This record gives sequence, C-alpha cells and structure tokens, in this order.
Amino acid sequence: MYDVLVVGSANADLTVRVERRPGAGETVLGTDLVESAGGKGANQAAAAARIGGRTALLARVGGDAFGEMLLAAQRAAGTDVAPVIVDDAARSGTAMIIVDPDGDNSIVVSPGANAALSPRDVAAAQDTIAAASVVSLQLEIPMESVRTAAAAAERAGTRVVLNPSPAPEAALAPELLAVSDPLVVNEHEARRLSGRADGSPAEWAQALREQGARSVVVTLGGDGALVLDASGSEDIPGVRVKAVDTTGAGDAFTGALATRLARGDTLPDAARFAVRVGAAAVTKPGAQPSYPTLAELAATVP
Ligand code: ADP
Repeated sequence: MYDVLVVGSANADLTVRVERRPGAGETVLGTDLVESAGGKGANQAAAAARIGGRTALLARVGGDAFGEMLLAAQRAAGTDVAPVIVDDAARSGTAMIIVDPDGDNSIVVSPGANAALSPRDVAAAQDTIAAASVVSLQLEIPMESVRTAAAAAERAGTRVVLNPSPAPEAALAPELLAVSDPLVVNEHEARRLSGRADGSPAEWAQALREQGARSVVVTLGGDGALVLDASGSEDIPGVRVKAVDTTGAGDAFTGALATRLARGDTLPDAARFAVRVGAAAVTKPGAQPSYPTLAELAATVP
C-alpha cells in the first residue's frame, strides 16, 4: 500500500542570515526570518513523495501554527499524513538556524513534540508498518521508538533504511544495525560509528558491515556515495552542480533511495538515482522546498 513509511521527526526550520554569527553575550542583526518545513523524518517523506513514491509519515507535531505548516508541506508534497499525531499538549519541534555569508551555520533544535513520539505510538502503527515496502528511520525521536519501529518492521518483513543522524554518542544497538538494509551515513557519521577517524569510505563501510549492518551507503557530498552490500562495493560518482544550500541534501538522498528500493531497484541503482536527487536538492535554498519532482529532476540533473 505504501512504498515508504517514514517514522521520525518534523521540525519548523526558522532561518536568519547574518553577517557574522554571534559569540557569547553578543547580539547581531540578521535578515528577515524564513520559516520552512524541515526535520529529518519529514524531509525524507517529502523527498520520497515528491519523486512519486507512495509515502506516509508517522510523526508528532504540536497543535500550533508550526504544526499546521508542517502538515501542509507534507500534503503539498503528496505524503499521506493520516498517521501524524497532532499533540495539543506540546509545541512543534523547531530548529533555529543562523547562517553566515560562507554558508556555515549554527543550529539549536528544540525537539518539542518529536520527543513525545513514543514506542506505544509506533506499536499502534504496526499495520501501517506492515503495509509499507520500506520503513525509513532516523534518530531525532526517542531511541526506544526507533527500536520499536525497527522490530515491528522486521516482524512484518518490511525493509529498514536507517540514517543514524544526528550521530549518537554511544554505539548503535546491535539489533538496530542488524536490520539496517542499508545503514545510510554521511562521512562524519561513518567515521564516528565505524570507530575509525581515518580510513576510506570503503573501509568505514566494511567496518559497519562487520558490526552487523546488512548493507551500507556512505554519502560523500559532491563526491557522490559508496555502497556496500553482499555483492560487493561500488563507487557512485557525484553530479557536478552549482551548490546553493546543502541543507537537507542527505535527507533528499535517503528519501529517494528508500523509494527506489521499494520499487525493486538494486542498492547501487537506487543510490545512483538518490545521488541525482541529492544534487538537485543543493541547487535550491532550504530543505523540503529544494526537493525535486521527477520532472524537475530530469530538467536539473538529467
Ligand atoms: P549530509 O547532507 O547528510 O551531510 P552529504 O553531504 O553526503 O550528506 O550529501 C548527501 C548527498 O547530497 C550526496 O550523496 C550528493 O548526492 C548530494 N550532494 C551534497 N552536496 C553536494 C554538492 N556540493 N554537489 C552535488 N551533490 C551534492
């Protein structure tokens, strides 16, 4: 019934551009506030839906204006928001983002309603999990809820894509790694989770597979990605584009990857497609507003 069910976070991204990011005790003036829909879970769902995946999102938003904005953005992308829980007792998650002229940013996240997405909420969605070909997970909701979703997917025979981001302090639980097919990590997460500060993408991926992941994708920014599964590893070259804003590029990649895996692509083929979607996403500002439809993808990154 669904190609992809995303179980994860939704945040209102509140962005201000500044000449210089403020130090402690300092006040600086910035541009007008820009509000846009973000949060890793919501981003991945929007990316999947925009390229035509039959997509649903299980998340919690607050009963506030940000919650309405987050739901509207999902509906506009084509996501089924029936599983989203509107929590009148909580504020929506927000990310306060300050960007300097070099494009470097400082971000403060207030998890809000995301922190209340409970294992019980996830368990109640067992039928929805079973109705999806792929469940896509990240780590911006409570870890117990992520583990509950992974276990429910495993029981239902639903493939799990895990993007362990933000990178956890501790090692990932073995049962989470064991269902990750693939584990999708950027360079920073690959170094942290593989326990190798040095090394190459192929070595990080190999280490993560030895730790138990069924397959691994390391995303490499403008250099594309490396995939490793039982049939071996493959370098997926990057696509040269004029990068305007890389916010949410990894989420665009993961949403696209999950959709193509659900449609039956091999991991390298799905990653080749996802690299194009990630590249298209960096050519426009913002996270969700930068995600392409299939037609836009064909026009931007043929
Ligand atoms: P994250 O956003 O999680 O840090 P990456 O930086 O690895 O992840 O980017 C994810 C994907 O987005 C890459 O695999 C690539 O497809 C695309 N991408 C990111 N930055 C660029 C860039 N400068 N040029 C082209 N594609 C990019």
